[in-house]
Amino acid sequence: MDLTADLTGASVLVTGNAVAARRAVRRYRAAGAVVSTIECPAHFRTSAMDEVLLVAAVDDGDPGWEPLRTACRLHGVFMVSEPAALPGRHVTLVGGGPGPVDLLTERAKEALREADVVYYDRLGPVEGLTQLAPGALLVDVGKTPGHHKIPQHEIEAMLVSTARSGARVVRLKGGDPYVFGRGGEELAACAAAGVPVSVVPGISSSIAVPGAAGIPVTHRGISRMFTVVSGHAPLSDSELEHLAGLGGTIVVLMGVGTLRDTAAGLERAGMRADMPAAVIERGFRPGQRTTIATLGTLPAAAALASNPAVLVIGEVVSLAGTPEQALLDSLASTLETS
Ligand code: SAH
Repeated sequence: MDLTADLTGASVLVTGNAVAARRAVRRYRAAGAVVSTIECPAHFRTSAMDEVLLVAAVDDGDPGWEPLRTACRLHGVFMVSEPAALPGRHVTLVGGGPGPVDLLTERAKEALREADVVYYDRLGPVEGLTQLAPGALLVDVGKTPGHHKIPQHEIEAMLVSTARSGARVVRLKGGDPYVFGRGGEELAACAAAGVPVSVVPGISSSIAVPGAAGIPVTHRGISRMFTVVSGHAPLSDSELEHLAGLGGTIVVLMGVGTLRDTAAGLERAGMRADMPAAVIERGFRPGQRTTIATLGTLPAAAALASNPAVLVIGEVVSLAGTPEQALLDSLASTLETS
């Protein structure tokens, strides 16, 4: 039976050994219940039934819980069976996509549902996390209270030690873990420590965010390649020359701070100043904003742009807002409202 109940302030007794019961305990606490626990049948006293609204019996394989069943019957206390949480000792690096919960994959949702601890940062689907991972302790590793990022080696050490303690650990990232997400480093750290680790791919902002603005990164007859680069630090002259020479779409992540350098550098490297270029801020999020200009005018047009944002340079940008796109947009909104 799939039952929904408001457990705010209700007294719930969870029985079963601590490892098997850990997820049930967290779920009931998350639902607002006041949770007490009994770890082994020998510690059960009928007096524990006083004031209890619900007993959640975790199937931990111990056959000695029969007196508890009898006591529940006698006291008219509801009893529900809960599956045991299996020992974890596992890390899953999960790509969370560009933000909205419905852009998570089924596999990502399953990993979150099963998680005991989720380490997350700000670019993933942060808002829905308490529902997506109801049994998990949620740890923000994007910022510490002093607003400094937790150093990467500390995140890796946390993943390893938490998994070793027997937990199922999810490291949730924005987009895809392997696109400027340090997924490779975290995978290597787990593997080096002998901790089993798997990776769930995610929808990368490098493709999806231009798409959200109606810009396809490739288009038959217009661009047959796209290069994704990091704008975290200014590009070197040789990188700029190669990029300009490719003649394909250029997608820059983390590129707001260096936008001026990138645009000027590409022009210096021979790209025409009237090449279409765009900045898409907060893709798929409230306040999504697209600024379409040219290589020469984008720095001024997007002077007020802020992170997170994706920069796209190339002929494909001219497809945003074309009649085809306008038709698609109007179809989409008709479907949404009908
Ligand atoms: N692994 C991520 C990228 C991490 S780097 C992925 O595959 O998407 C972080 C950069 O991604 C940001 O600086 C920004 O350039 C881009 N980004 C991520 N989410 C975004 C969003 N919703 N809107 C615009 N840009 C986004």
